[in-house]
Amino acid sequence: FVPVLTIDGPSGSGKGTVSRLVAARLGWHYLDSGALYRAVGVAAGWADLDLADPSALVRCAFDTQVEFRENGAGEPRVLINGLDATDELRTETAGAAASAIAAIPEVRAALKDRQRAFRRPPGLVADGRDMGTVIFPDAPHKVFLTASAEERAERRYKQLKDKGVSVTLDSLLREILARDARDAQRAVAPLRPAEDAVHIDTTGLGIDEVVERVLQWVRR
Ligand code: C5P
Repeated sequence: FVPVLTIDGPSGSGKGTVSRLVAARLGWHYLDSGALYRAVGVAAGWADLDLADPSALVRCAFDTQVEFRENGAGEPRVLINGLDATDELRTETAGAAASAIAAIPEVRAALKDRQRAFRRPPGLVADGRDMGTVIFPDAPHKVFLTASAEERAERRYKQLKDKGVSVTLDSLLREILARDARDAQRAVAPLRPAEDAVHIDTTGLGIDEVVERVLQWVRR
């Protein structure tokens, strides 16, 4: 039995950073499931696919190769069909494309086995929206991270500004609220906590504090 810690929550809740750090502390593998959806969204854009054509998008989900790697400096990079697309994947355009294609049930089904294949010894930290509810329902440890929408927008703003992307806080807040609404209201795998998930509100908490709380929960 390979243990899994699922960390689900809305965009900007700190999932990505917390999951990576917790995985490193435990020495477990890490799955960034959002990057898979983003990669399919970006690949669909590269191929000029119609976001209203589900069968083309499902084919794209099966055909798109996604590789997670570290560069020489130990920074995580994501390759789509062999091309480094790490920076493009982080944009809000890619997030919105991901959220649109993620509402298609067949696209979600196409990515299921690929996500489950990340479960390898000694363990996996899986970050996303439906890790605890759909992909790893038998995970012994489940966390649901939240934070106020304002704080989440501010975190994204800082991340993007550090990368030199020019956006306004206001437009980010609007985009985040729109994406949350779509993720929570879709018919298939809507964003919601698993019944057995522990909830952590990260508003006003530092990353280290959240990491310690999650580790405490895993080691209890
Ligand atoms: O987590 P991230 O912001 O990278 O995810 C981008 C989008 O991908 C989300 O807004 C959501 O619509 C979709 N997603 C999903 N299920 C997951 C991970 C991401 O539907 N497990």
